[in-house]
Amino acid sequence: MADFNGVDFLRLDELLSEEERMARDTVRGFVSREFLPLIQEHIRRDGSFPMELVPRMAELGVFGTNLEGYGCAGMNNVAYGLVMQELERGDSGLRSFASVQGSLVMYPIYSYGSDAQKDRWLPALAAGKAIGCFGLTEPDFGSFAQGMRTKAERRGGSWILNGTKRWITNGSIADVSVVWARTEEGIRGFLVEKGARGFETLDIKGKFSLRGSITSELYLTDVEVPDQSRLAKAEGMKAPLSCLTQARYGISWGAIGAAMACYQEVVDYTKERMVQGGFLAAKQLTQEKLATMLTEITKAQLLCLRLGRLKDEGKLHHTMVSMAKRNNVNAALEIARAARDLLGANGIVDDYQSMRHMVNLETVRTYEGTHDIHTLILGEHITGMRAF
Ligand SMILES: Cc1cc2nc3c(=O)[nH]c(=O)nc-3n(C[C@H](O)[C@H](O)[C@H](O)COP(=O)(O)OP(=O)(O)OC[C@H]3O[C@@H](n4cnc5c(N)ncnc54)[C@H](O)[C@@H]3O)c2cc1C
Repeated sequence: MADFNGVDFLRLDELLSEEERMARDTVRGFVSREFLPLIQEHIRRDGSFPMELVPRMAELGVFGTNLEGYGCAGMNNVAYGLVMQELERGDSGLRSFASVQGSLVMYPIYSYGSDAQKDRWLPALAAGKAIGCFGLTEPDFGSFAQGMRTKAERRGGSWILNGTKRWITNGSIADVSVVWARTEEGIRGFLVEKGARGFETLDIKGKFSLRGSITSELYLTDVEVPDQSRLAKAEGMKAPLSCLTQARYGISWGAIGAAMACYQEVVDYTKERMVQGGFLAAKQLTQEKLATMLTEITKAQLLCLRLGRLKDEGKLHHTMVSMAKRNNVNAALEIARAARDLLGANGIVDDYQSMRHMVNLETVRTYEGTHDIHTLILGEHITGMRAF
């Protein structure tokens, strides 16, 4: 596989600090040299993730990149975004692993947990010695997660949890599951530990998409969780939604990585592929597709860079993240589809990456707020009228 040098039409590198570029380039090298040689085998084996890379990912600081203390890298949000971009240049499953661990497990413990919970879990999660998952979605409640049926009832100094969570990334390998449940006072978050009595998991098989990632169902039957394992500062749906805003921010950057991988692959390919006596790259129809790809990647980069700077200044609004997630994932999916098309028959085999990115991006379009839901969030922002 050719070296990857990034796509930087508008010289945006000049707007990055040395630390930001270094974070990006380090992860870029890891993805090229250590991740990509393994991915084909894992994709062929449905639902397997190269767990042997977890210590190395921890060493590179990709778990909780933008959190301070507890062994986290403490980088700014642009560096964090660039790290997510590079991971997803490898595979959406690789970025999902880091997004869940950092934004959906470490962030809620960091923001809503007690000191004891932080001391216990954050260093282990940052070091990749513990794995976490985030259980919000249920079989009957995805976009409308607040309708959840999973219940937590107080019994003395404990809580009894009952319910089912579905589509949970890393569910079966998690040492700690952040489980969101309905209580008499509203939605609350609980840290459920691996091996808790009445807690079982089952992996979902037969996925066409995100095959290099573990996706599970969580079953909770009278699981007893001490009150010390509740995220005491998390009250109502705004707590899980705040975690999702963190993850969606990373996804907006990640989608650029997937798009860049497809773009580079197809530029290289069309410059060598001969059709009707000429290079495929020399055909006008091809050039129109490549010009659109480069333009969309550049627009996505601009969106993310501005978003990252606003996030660092504390001026980010969740609707801005909705715009970026919606736009960038859609653009990346269109680019992956066009790249797969230009690769012809070769594009359907796993010697080429574009189709893998394309099917992964179908999941990315659906999770963390579907494309439609982000449309409706923006619609509400524009009109003041909620349509969902
Ligand atoms: C591989 C994978 C990993 C995942 N990982 C996690 C995880 O780690 N943790 C977790 O909690 N969840 C996870 N999810 C779940 C994901 O967040 C949900 O799938 C997502 O929220 C969509 O919910 P749903 O699948 O129930 O679709 P639905 O909500 O049923 O949506 C189906 C369709 O209806 C549309 N729709 C929904 N509501 C409206 C409306 N009001 N108006 C118009 N159209 C509407 C949607 O846009 C979509 O097109 C994962 C999903 C996948 C596929």
